[in-house]
Amino acid sequence: MTGPHFLRYCRDMVRNIAILGSTGSIGANALRVIEALGDEFRIVALAARNSIDLLAGQVRRFGPSYVAIANPEKAKPLKALIGDQACDILTGPDALSEIASLEEVDIVLTAVVGAAGLPAVLRAAEMGKTLAIANKEPLVIAGQLLTDTAAEHGATILPVDSEHSAVFQAMHAGQSEDVKRIILTGSGGPFRKARPEDLQQVTLEQALNHPTWDMGPKITIDSATMMNKALEIIEAVWLFGLPAEQIDVLIHPESVIHSMVEFVDGSILAQMGTPDMTVPIQYALTYPRRCKGLAKPLQLEKLGCLTFETPNPEVFRSLKLVYDVIRQGGSAPVVFNAANEVAVELFLTGQIPFHQIVELIEDCLSRHSETPCPTLDALLQVDAWARRTVKETLKLSFLARDSAEKV
Ligand code: MG
Repeated sequence: MTGPHFLRYCRDMVRNIAILGSTGSIGANALRVIEALGDEFRIVALAARNSIDLLAGQVRRFGPSYVAIANPEKAKPLKALIGDQACDILTGPDALSEIASLEEVDIVLTAVVGAAGLPAVLRAAEMGKTLAIANKEPLVIAGQLLTDTAAEHGATILPVDSEHSAVFQAMHAGQSEDVKRIILTGSGGPFRKARPEDLQQVTLEQALNHPTWDMGPKITIDSATMMNKALEIIEAVWLFGLPAEQIDVLIHPESVIHSMVEFVDGSILAQMGTPDMTVPIQYALTYPRRCKGLAKPLQLEKLGCLTFETPNPEVFRSLKLVYDVIRQGGSAPVVFNAANEVAVELFLTGQIPFHQIVELIEDCLSRHSETPCPTLDALLQVDAWARRTVKETLKLSFLARDSAEKV
């Protein structure tokens, strides 16, 4: 992939990258991108939670100086797999933070699903690193804390989420004060045409069958509930400094326009391309330049037409809920995110039906009175409370159902 044209533009400096979550789909795509970009980028560190076979293969291929495995029980087997390759193995609760704050690391690409990567992201911000953020939690849970920390220490936050990358690119066409609104697009997932009552019968297989994007199970379910888009609204608030009322969601089933920015003069700028995460990953890594990429070119003539719909708020209740969550602020987004994480896991493991995901989130939010969350500890306490509460609520509802059946 590294032709002479490409080399002329990209070989001016070497940038050192740490990837947090290298064995997930974003991490694997990032490694493909970096490999194709050639020796302008060097993988200094890789980190994963459990997948030692995949991680060991990545270590052999990319030769990082450090590798972190979050699960301490996996450290020894990982060492055995890596063999005599020179690479420091870090493990335990601080391993990700150690990786993210390594002196020689310039760019931290963070793609750890859930709240687990949060301390490492904040640590990287404190160290003034360039942060390429692919997972939603850092901005959703800790938007205020992270953006404040980044501003204080001169860290740069670059979006990798495809919608926010699109908005970020379109924003370059004007001044931020001239933005009228952001339009986040979403495919609408597998239940775009569903009626509210149809959601009662949804199977796991149907929910995991995303029409356009190939992603991990958690984010695929988030697309089916459009919780993904709700979380992206919160992300956009922090990334672009706009009030939630200026951020709209539009269903666009072809997933070719990755999002748009409307300016006050009525111009709408859209970023388009084939749905391929290597594009936003690469843009975050090479920003502000553009390099030859891996994605197939978009052939609009083959598509013929692009369509748009307003999401049905009765089917996608998360999209209604999120504006209240943003209005409440403080700990409310933490509860919103944590309750969803637990509910999705319960659905993926067959413990609740699909429609109960949003019900559990609504219920958890109604039991919560929001507080300011100025520190990571405060955030994590609320996060733990929400997780506990969802599980306890579910247990109580099972008990109530069982005793009702006995009567
Ligand atoms: Mg997205």
